[in-house]
Amino acid sequence: MSLQATTPRQYLTTLTNGWRFTLPTSVRKAHGWDAGTKLIATIRGASLVFSTEPEPDEGHVSTHGNLARDFDDEMLGPQECYLGSGGKIVLPAQLRRRLGWVVGKRLVIVDEGDGVSVTLCCDAKRCESCGSISGVREIIHNVFLCSQCWGNYLREMHAKLRLGRARA
Ligand SMILES: [Zn+2]
Repeated sequence: MSLQATTPRQYLTTLTNGWRFTLPTSVRKAHGWDAGTKLIATIRGASLVFSTEPEPDEGHVSTHGNLARDFDDEMLGPQECYLGSGGKIVLPAQLRRRLGWVVGKRLVIVDEGDGVSVTLCCDAKRCESCGSISGVREIIHNVFLCSQCWGNYLREMHAKLRLGRARA
């Protein structure tokens, strides 16, 4: 067990018709994945993480869920998919809407060692607080937050204001 260079390696690919994208050969080789390998796809923030081991079950009742989420009904557990020939993966249908990816867009693939993360690249605006791409808007010039984090921020500001007044 030797630790190698920790800099994650990144690759670009394109989400093509049929919601397919290609895992680079070097990534597949590094993990020993081959055509037919069963992969577990888990949503993590704005990324989809592929691995062969199911992620530890953190409990479907999100005890760490700090606040009620707008999209609780869309929370999805890990999805199974299979690696096709040539490293093709078809994005599981259940995940498409949740991820908000768009066919024709580029994806960044990062080999994280224990798994491979895939994230919509470049032109998708991400929440600067949590990395989500769902419900993101420009709050002030060049500052992007999702509705959830924006709500948190407002609540914090309110709490601070109240605290300030109480001390005055
Ligand atoms: Zn956010």
